[in-house]
Amino acid sequence: MLLSLSLHLATTDNISSLFNGRIEAAVLRLDRIDRRISGNKLFKLKYYLQHAIGSNKKGIISFGGAWSNHLLAVAAACRQSGLESIGIIRGEEPRELSSTLIDAKQLGMQLIYISRHDYRDKKVPSIDGVEQYLVVPEGGYGLEGARGAAEILDLAPGRFTHYCCAVGTGTTMAGLVNGVHDDQQVVGINVMKNKGLEEEIARLVSGKRANRALIHDYHFGGYAKHSPELLAFMNDLYEKTHVPTDIVYTGKLLYAVCDLASKDYFPEGSKVLIIHSGGLQGNRSLPEGALTFGWE
Ligand SMILES: *Cc1c(COP(=O)(O)O)cnc(C)c1O
Repeated sequence: MLLSLSLHLATTDNISSLFNGRIEAAVLRLDRIDRRISGNKLFKLKYYLQHAIGSNKKGIISFGGAWSNHLLAVAAACRQSGLESIGIIRGEEPRELSSTLIDAKQLGMQLIYISRHDYRDKKVPSIDGVEQYLVVPEGGYGLEGARGAAEILDLAPGRFTHYCCAVGTGTTMAGLVNGVHDDQQVVGINVMKNKGLEEEIARLVSGKRANRALIHDYHFGGYAKHSPELLAFMNDLYEKTHVPTDIVYTGKLLYAVCDLASKDYFPEGSKVLIIHSGGLQGNRSLPEGALTFGWE
């Protein structure tokens, strides 16, 4: 690793008690590794960072919204690796910066705002010396991202029948699919209404691997949308297990796993590993008091 991070902090929490012994379930707490290079982002960025350094780039340019876990991770990882970073932000510069963008800026990230239209095309604005930067797709989507994500499996304690993850760009899910054995299943929970996701994932999966299921029933209205029911679930989960989750990804993931288990989706005796992909910093977008736990 280029980054001096403590991977051993990613311990697992056994939450089998939630399932009355029908299945075994554990949460791989990637969120414990680093507060800013959070969860899966650390793994997805690894080979992009190597690429940038190996090809003598000055830094990395990437894309995100105001509460982007990815941009904050890019800012922090670049800072640690001696690279510069530029964040391209969707929309106009707000009068008040989000806590995420304030942090990114403090880590040395240069923020550039582009119109929603240009953002859709992922247009890199014409900045002086732009060719000296490696452009990393939004969310770290791509083969290099998936290659790094497969290494999440090195932290799994033993063998599981199912690996469950939240899905944004699908890069993490693709990495897991590439990394598990044929008799193991990867279950991805789509947190958006994006139906083109299956193709995006297929593009990153090597060969014709079929051991995956992408589930579209738990987006709660769309990306970053949430309901009182979701918040209540997250608070309840924290009370029972001390596992904190975020409103965009891992809250929906845990909700989905619990709901699927209640419908006997996982055969009796399954060993389920739930990947906690971090993102807790994004909860700062909520009004104070909405959650009973903080950003640990
Ligand atoms: C970015 C992110 C994801 C989505 O990962 P993809 O590889 O883009 O699917 C999941 N969980 C958290 C907490 C994230 O920040």
